Amino acid sequence: MLKRKNYKFWFCTGSQDLYGEECLANVAEHSKIIVEKLNASGVLPYEVIWKPTLITNELIRKTFNEANMDEECAGVITWMHTFSPAKSWILGLQEYRKPLLHLHTQFNQEIPYETIDMDFMNENQSAHGGREFGHIFTRMGIERKVVVGHWSDEAVQKKIGSWMRTAVGVIESSHVRVMRIADNMRNVAVTEGDKVEAQIRFGWEIDAYPVNEIVEAVDSVSSQDVDALVEEYYDTYDILLEGRDAKEFRQHVAEQAQIELGFERFLDEKNYHAIVTHFGDLGKLKQLPGLAIQRLMQKGYGFGAEGDWKTAAMVRIMKIMTEGMEGAKGTSFMEDYTYNLVPGKEGILQAHMLEVCPSISEGPIGIKVNPLSMGNKKDPARLVFTSKTGPAVAVSLIDLGDRFRLIINDVNCKKTEKAMPKLPVATAFWTPEPNLSIGAEAWILCGGAHHTAFSYDITSEQMGDWAAAMGIEAVYIDKDTTIRNLKNELRWNEVAFRK
Ligand code: MN
Repeated sequence: MLKRKNYKFWFCTGSQDLYGEECLANVAEHSKIIVEKLNASGVLPYEVIWKPTLITNELIRKTFNEANMDEECAGVITWMHTFSPAKSWILGLQEYRKPLLHLHTQFNQEIPYETIDMDFMNENQSAHGGREFGHIFTRMGIERKVVVGHWSDEAVQKKIGSWMRTAVGVIESSHVRVMRIADNMRNVAVTEGDKVEAQIRFGWEIDAYPVNEIVEAVDSVSSQDVDALVEEYYDTYDILLEGRDAKEFRQHVAEQAQIELGFERFLDEKNYHAIVTHFGDLGKLKQLPGLAIQRLMQKGYGFGAEGDWKTAAMVRIMKIMTEGMEGAKGTSFMEDYTYNLVPGKEGILQAHMLEVCPSISEGPIGIKVNPLSMGNKKDPARLVFTSKTGPAVAVSLIDLGDRFRLIINDVNCKKTEKAMPKLPVATAFWTPEPNLSIGAEAWILCGGAHHTAFSYDITSEQMGDWAAAMGIEAVYIDKDTTIRNLKNELRWNEVAFRK
């Protein structure tokens, strides 16, 4: 289901007509070579498309407007080969609405010491032209990414690739549609928010449906379809009966299969990419969607529990940003649950009532059927597993009343010291940077939620760039965080982000 467009990025080289035809021919040839090599590198997740050299006000404006209109164009990469007077970019930049990367590179890697003359310098003056170009963005207050280094360097190519994923997250944000089949949980503050502002700021459509409308879709799934999916579950996962009757167990599992199919059809038919549920508002559903939601998340849907549409949208965006990534380790909705406070072994056990995405699992995945300790529905089936180790990011988008803030925490995922055989839910376990004590204190001072959107495959830089593109505040909690500096940063941000 994880539908997205076949995105491309335009490569636009800046110059001017002061240097004569020969120079402009070289500029075009060089930029074509760079585009060709970038595409052949295998490092970039999306194709780069060469565009004719931008040398006049009119052409710059026309090209940027074409980029706006092209549905497959997710952003523009610019490079100043020579000097391109930046006033000629003003009108185009005023009208441009997509992400922009300023690739501050030059064609040659090394100064040609033996042969360099003034002609060479005039033709190869990125150090000069890139500064003029950067100035106008800063003057106009336009957000952009700057990547510096030789285009053949793999580290530079990786930075471009990483930015491309962020750019797709920015473009896709304006298509995110969240289905609410329940309101936010009563009295809970942090999952609330201004849906109108979210649409203005992020482009999200957040719509409510009566839960029993989706129940009708669930009820209309044929028993053959349910049986086929249950067979798939039984082939894919370990069945952990734990003393329950096998037939009764299977009926509980079938309930989730029916929910998965009904929900997916309903979401697909109405073109939604994320969904929120609430254990206290299930209408005629017989179980809290557990296994069903876990599978939908794995297929690329965003999810937030207890009506948490902000986290649902963030999970969807992070799924899109990481799509097709080689060696991806997974992205999930998550919740801070309980601590291990033993010195030297500190960490936060992450889980939810049921809904953790199996994309983050490591080792076998089992199905269990257990009662919920909340609500009065039938015992829901759920996938249980433990998660991968290694660095990851956990983010929380909060509404402060006058603005949104994205809190981005680098975390280190670990295995718990011992197994937890009686815990009937999927888990992860991590220690936040810079350590549990400062990390958790910082998170709480920032106002971060207990729900997060979590990914092994995204960097804090990408999420910070995404927030910058949205024009919202981002606060990083990482190895460099100190409480004194963080408190000042939050204080200063109150002024910087005042409307
Ligand atoms: Mn929750």
